[in-house]
Amino acid sequence: MSLLTVGSVAFDAIETPFGKTDKIIGGAGTYIALASSFYNNKQFIVSVVGEDFPAEMLSELEKRNVDIQGLQIKKGEKTFFWSGRYHNDMNSRDTLVTELNVLEHFDPIIPDAYQGVDYLMLGNLSPQVQRSVIERLETRPKLIAMDTMNFWMDIAMEELEKTMKLVDVLIINDEEARQLSKEYSLVKASKVIRDMGPKYLIIKKGEHGALLFHENKMFFAPALPLEEVFDPTGAGDTFAGGFMGYIASTDDISFENMKRAIINGSALASFCVEEFGTNRLMNITYKDLEERIEEFVNLTNFDMVQVIN
Ligand code: AMP
Repeated sequence: MSLLTVGSVAFDAIETPFGKTDKIIGGAGTYIALASSFYNNKQFIVSVVGEDFPAEMLSELEKRNVDIQGLQIKKGEKTFFWSGRYHNDMNSRDTLVTELNVLEHFDPIIPDAYQGVDYLMLGNLSPQVQRSVIERLETRPKLIAMDTMNFWMDIAMEELEKTMKLVDVLIINDEEARQLSKEYSLVKASKVIRDMGPKYLIIKKGEHGALLFHENKMFFAPALPLEEVFDPTGAGDTFAGGFMGYIASTDDISFENMKRAIINGSALASFCVEEFGTNRLMNITYKDLEERIEEFVNLTNFDMVQVIN
């Protein structure tokens, strides 16, 4: 099937307790596209970079079968830049710098060849931009998933509410779910959020896994306990890319298949955090992914012996 990714393609500078990088390649759209490229889909991307963005990375995306017609390159302008510093627990971080640059006036133009796309993954961007992509598609994709963050809840809540009404799956973390719903219990939060539009909700809990809610059903997937977490940047986007890449390639939006998609997303995210930036994702094979999925299956698989008094 075909899958359109919309999201930032960026430069990041990251500080963790293990080290620090200068400007490296990042961006939600980059992580989503790299993750979803492990699956057999026709892949499209809508994004924007400046003239300073390395052509080699664009070729890397093309090598992974990502059609980059929808990736605008703005002459004389600079690529979006984000910098963050992780705390010792690696679960929380401070944003040090956000330079919007080309993202400030980003107009997401959809190439004709992308019309009729089957699946849509809206990475974290302004809710107005996310909505305009949906409105510019002549036919509604079979499933639309979106990510968002606290930042948009703080400054553009009305716009976010309008966009949320148009999507099927919302993928956010636990802190964002609590802020959005004003509920501490994630079960209660999931009800409030699903009343706002998306019929499916995925709540990511970092090293504590992810929850999927739909109607009265709930599914929990663990995260793989890793010896070393080097850099969590992009793990959430990688998860979303793996999730939608799997859904699109299997063309099955049943709850049972979403469970498998979550395990695929979690497995890819577990690779992402093992090295800085996109390094690890760029160097694993489909076989590595299969082996890791097997580890996930074994992690929670057990036989129950009933003891009756
Ligand atoms: P994550 O770790 O999954 O939250 O995603 C991190 C990625 O999101 C980084 O590579 C950043 O370039 C990108 N990013 C951070 N802030 C924004 C923003 N306001 N808009 C778009 N992308 C962003």
